[in-house]
Amino acid sequence: MFNASLKDLSAMLSGGKISSVELTREFLGRIDALNPEINAFITVDIDKSLMQAKLADAMIASGRAHPLTGIPVAQKDIFCAKDWLTTCGSKMLSNFVSPYDAHVIERFNSVGAVNIGKTNMDEFAMGSSNETSHYGSVKNPWDRQAVPGGSSGGSAAAVAARMAPVATGTDTGGSIRQPAALCGISGIKPTYGLVSRYGMIAFASSLDQGGPMAKSAEDLALMLGLMTGFDSRDSTSLDRPVEDYSRDLDKPLDGLRIGLPREYFAEGLSADVEEAVRAAISEYEKMGATIVDVSLPNTKLSIPVYYVLAPAEASSNLSRYDGVRYGYRAKDYKDLTEMYEKSRSEGFGAEVKRRIMVGTYVLSHGYYDAYYMQAQKLRRLIAKDFSEAFKQCDVIMGPTSPSTAFNLGEKGDDPVQMYLSDIYTIAVNLAGLPGMSIPAGFGKNGRPVGLQIVGNYFSEAKMLNVAHQYQKLTDWHLKMPAI
Ligand code: GLN
Repeated sequence: MFNASLKDLSAMLSGGKISSVELTREFLGRIDALNPEINAFITVDIDKSLMQAKLADAMIASGRAHPLTGIPVAQKDIFCAKDWLTTCGSKMLSNFVSPYDAHVIERFNSVGAVNIGKTNMDEFAMGSSNETSHYGSVKNPWDRQAVPGGSSGGSAAAVAARMAPVATGTDTGGSIRQPAALCGISGIKPTYGLVSRYGMIAFASSLDQGGPMAKSAEDLALMLGLMTGFDSRDSTSLDRPVEDYSRDLDKPLDGLRIGLPREYFAEGLSADVEEAVRAAISEYEKMGATIVDVSLPNTKLSIPVYYVLAPAEASSNLSRYDGVRYGYRAKDYKDLTEMYEKSRSEGFGAEVKRRIMVGTYVLSHGYYDAYYMQAQKLRRLIAKDFSEAFKQCDVIMGPTSPSTAFNLGEKGDDPVQMYLSDIYTIAVNLAGLPGMSIPAGFGKNGRPVGLQIVGNYFSEAKMLNVAHQYQKLTDWHLKMPAI
């Protein structure tokens, strides 16, 4: 049952084989057994989850079920959930019980999905290893010495260890795709603007995008349909009709043109990751796809551009945490200025402070044109690389991450090395494009490898089709860590 698809779980629920209360208890039991070691959840609230499960059972009994009714969903702790502690992985919000629901949480609640707990994450979603969390690092279920990736590392580990059938994540520079790759699960970051950011704690607003994490593309399609849709409370929410993302899953792939960017198969890519990714691509050729050589010449600029723009936006977004209205406030201070200073220096961790300092610097008078404006111009060029490439191909494929999961502590003292682990994912956010990662085997250390699929704007249904066809032929997505 822990390996069952959403479709199967949903059929079990509507066929009366199991109730949502029973299903929720099963997953809570698994969390109870595994979470002390994996540390994927920050908050678990048995009573609240079971209360939702009871409501779901009533919905099912009255014949009003949606495929996600009664399904336990692990929610990244970046999504505000009414009456739940919502920390964003930070001491700054360690006492924040949200008075309202994020759009994404509302959508899950509206169909009677069960919030099974709030997942651990890098502080304010800044990181690639989950090690910046105030709540301690998450262990990779495949190997406890390894990081799960970040920032949605708790969600990825929860699904990989089957502590939840599905989870939510957010992706500013790779935070859905990279942890999905490192934990051997599937995840999709939709086109920017498809999933409302209302109630999703802001990091870098022009890049942040929520999305689903699950075992398979088929499960992602069901979740994505629920999470998308116009929301007037987010000024960048797109007013488009909601799509059925499952509609094309079974389409054959003959004639599909897959672009392989030269720059993604160059120096810095581990041999074992390259081997697994190339093997996956040859499966696609067997399915009738053709391979096209493409170039994304500005790839090397994506990390420097991101590390100007994301900190700039973060420094502005995080100015709201001042110890006055909500969140952490220092105990002793002599005046207002000292209260601000102490609350912020005690409440934020080192990586968050580093970003605030960089962001404030690049936005300051005299440096704004040299750094921020320049980065905005380069962002356009990076987006243009993709539009040129999509003239020649339908999807772009490559590795999600340059290596399999690295060891806990391995990159902690070297922020630049940590930043480089997002080299293949960040440009996708800068361009606002959809990107996903699916499991494609294991590296030589037995840790999972992810295949990245990038599509043109609004091509999520096509990407899910491409991923699903591979998952029909292979069973990497069904492999479970021995725990
Ligand atoms: N690892 C990147 C960062 O540290 C991306 C994080 C994210 O996507 N939230 O900013």
